[in-house]
Amino acid sequence: MENIRQKIEALRKELRDHNYRYYQLNNPVISDYEFDMKMKELERLEAEHPEYFDPNSPTQRVGGGISKEFITRKHKNPLYSLDNSYSEGELKSWEERIRKILPAGSDIEYTCELKYDGASINLTYENGRLSTAVTRGDGIQGDDVTANIRTIRTLPLVLNDEVFKDFEIRGEVIISVQGFLKMNEKRAAEGKETFSNPRNTASGSLKLLDSSEVAKRPLDILLYQVVGLPFRTHYEALQAAKKSGFHVPDQIKKCRSIDEVLAYIHEWESKRHDLDYETDGVVIKVNDLEMQKILGYTAKSPRWAIAYKYPAERGATLLKSIDYQVGRTGAITPVANLEPVQLAGTIVKRASLHNADQIAKLDLHIGDTVWVEKGGEIIPKITGVIREKRPADAKPVQYISHCPSCGSPLKRPEGEAVHYCTNHYGCPAQIKERIAHFVSRKAMNIEGLGKETIQGFYEAGLIENYADLYTLTPESIIGLEGIAEKAAENIISGIKASKNVPFPRVLFALGIRHVGANVAKILARHFKNIDRLLTARKDELTAVQGIGNK
Ligand code: AMP
Ligand code: ZN
Repeated sequence: MENIRQKIEALRKELRDHNYRYYQLNNPVISDYEFDMKMKELERLEAEHPEYFDPNSPTQRVGGGISKEFITRKHKNPLYSLDNSYSEGELKSWEERIRKILPAGSDIEYTCELKYDGASINLTYENGRLSTAVTRGDGIQGDDVTANIRTIRTLPLVLNDEVFKDFEIRGEVIISVQGFLKMNEKRAAEGKETFSNPRNTASGSLKLLDSSEVAKRPLDILLYQVVGLPFRTHYEALQAAKKSGFHVPDQIKKCRSIDEVLAYIHEWESKRHDLDYETDGVVIKVNDLEMQKILGYTAKSPRWAIAYKYPAERGATLLKSIDYQVGRTGAITPVANLEPVQLAGTIVKRASLHNADQIAKLDLHIGDTVWVEKGGEIIPKITGVIREKRPADAKPVQYISHCPSCGSPLKRPEGEAVHYCTNHYGCPAQIKERIAHFVSRKAMNIEGLGKETIQGFYEAGLIENYADLYTLTPESIIGLEGIAEKAAENIISGIKASKNVPFPRVLFALGIRHVGANVAKILARHFKNIDRLLTARKDELTAVQGIGNK
């Protein structure tokens, strides 16, 4: 018996280590498959030996128990909000205020971090193990959402650490922009309603009562404060937390003056849009924890910190027209053409509209003045209409009935929100998009072939499908789309080199609906070659773990 217990513990530790290598170091040493096998083994042992149950076991990441409601829990240390500032002047007067409180001539160092836009959470660890995760609530007490937080893969549940034993750590629960887009794409393909933005989806996810639902959401926690450990500075504390496996973003910076703080604010004003998570400002903190103690708190917020908020990223502008894009699967995406508008540093001319339902829901008319919002890397979107500004003769948007590329009638499959052009082999837009997908980085990774170039080859009658790429010669493409000799040779050698791409990526490159990078891996592993996959019956497909009915 003792033997089994040790085996379970050893497996848990091993899986935690692999998790750390995967998420923290970005350097896995075993394949996803081996990881899954070890996880299965652990699941089996735990099922056979329920007496060794541990809520912090790696197997518990998938969630499980459904709660009826959340227990309210009082915070050991209250969670304050932050004072906001919007200008250089306000930051300078903040500095003046704290200088008056600190001993004369103090050498103040600041830290700058981005202000992550999500839902705040306070985590308590006891003896190196996550014990509770509580939302901010009113700052004094919040909801115990520990079961939901346990499903977040990037969060270490058990630490092997001398220092990080009994402490609290605070952070922001977020959904990465990429994760959000992928999740919405998947939902759209399943005909489900899509979410409107990462922030609301992250905070909404925490309130779900079924933790196995939460486990399906691509949540992450960005940590920004360690409480209750004897560090000398905030910066050191966060770096140590990072080493112990917490996700602490790299953008934190020490600054020696308010001028350096301002430079940081300026630097990140536009750069922050390249990050994979949404931010709405910068949080400036006094680095020295002794100084923080001297400064203390007002009723509402710490005196030792202040937020700088970037200007709001919403603007009103004119809806000029709507374009309809045809994707590689024939899916139609409506895109709004706008009167250019400046949104926090960038000029926005186009906005995504998702589908016909979205347009109907907004009751869009051409000529409307609309609200446009921009968050992170996400394409800007229209979030509302200013009715009072609608011209009397404005016409409601009529969704198209035929494909703008090939003219075929569009179909909308039952239960789905998206319209499709079903002219799979004859629609120029689909052909071009399919080839563009085929050559893209995660697929065959053929460089030098942008959409324009592909379009040019297609119009010249050189290619009609991705197989035709392999018949091209340097001579056949020189001169097309301004391609010179050297470039032509590069393209052709790129095409040749792609013959060495491994099967899972080739399968993904084919662009079969519902076969994303992950499903392609699973199918390739199971069927080994295209012939066996081609002849597989439906029941053989659904028998493969990870392949659903769809
Ligand atoms: P507010 O909600 O405007 O009062 O701002 C305070 C909130 O900002 C805190 O409760 C945190 O959840 C959040 N926040 C986001 N990023 C940070 C950060 N880097 N440091 C501190 N707080 C942050
Ligand atoms: Zn078409």
